[in-house]
Amino acid sequence: LFFGVVLSYNYMIFEIITIFPNIFDSYFPESIIGRAQKKGLIKINIHNLRDFAKDKHKTVDDTPYGGGSGMVMKVEPIYNLVKSIKLKDKNPSKTRVVLFSAKGKKYTQKDAFRLSKYKKIIMICGRYEGVDERVADHIADEEISIGEYVLTGGEIPAMILVDSISRLLPEVLGNSESCKDESHSVEGYLEYPQYTKPEIFGKIKVPKILLSGNHQEIKKWRNEKAKNFLNKK
Ligand code: SAM
Repeated sequence: LFFGVVLSYNYMIFEIITIFPNIFDSYFPESIIGRAQKKGLIKINIHNLRDFAKDKHKTVDDTPYGGGSGMVMKVEPIYNLVKSIKLKDKNPSKTRVVLFSAKGKKYTQKDAFRLSKYKKIIMICGRYEGVDERVADHIADEEISIGEYVLTGGEIPAMILVDSISRLLPEVLGNSESCKDESHSVEGYLEYPQYTKPEIFGKIKVPKILLSGNHQEIKKWRNEKAKNFLNKK
């Protein structure tokens, strides 16, 4: 029982597969994500894909079959690395493998909620012209695009997933940062406009109603404004 208690963990694990591991050094130690790691609420493991390339040049890419420009990321190193991570899984049904690609399904807050229910997310960051399609077909559980544009790699999408999922986990946000009434917390909901001091900036004033102290009227005004944001979309 003692070992059972020691070995069982109650934090979410993000496993990031990349050929540029240093990219994450500035973002993950900071602010809410940095604090969540220190408190043991999440764990982020960065894996250098090159460590799983078998040849002496640590090759992770090759030319595309059928011709065309650029290089394609090879399937074997990705397969071997994902397999080595999965070997440590006690509960494989709680692990999700995500491949980032511009042609994937568009990521929304609903996906962040859904993915926050897993214990472990393995993320594969593509580079170059993309990744051998066998990774999408046989290794990844899903292919995610973070928007209809093309990035140079999947590392920014990985940061986006870690950030948006972590803040939904219990205790990651403090009370003052609660994610309960935020934009997208309910489908279609957008938050009302926020203001802080000074009351007058140049000639621009904060809406009078917010200074009235009438909480009922303020709530009504905020609901109205939130609806307007939605109509503008
Ligand atoms: N040739 C690919 C295409 O036309 O779809 C683009 C490859 S892109 C230069 C290199 C890598 O960046 C992709 O394999 C993917 O991992 C990542 N990437 C680029 N845009 C992305 C997006 N919108 N969402 C998620 N990942 C993206």
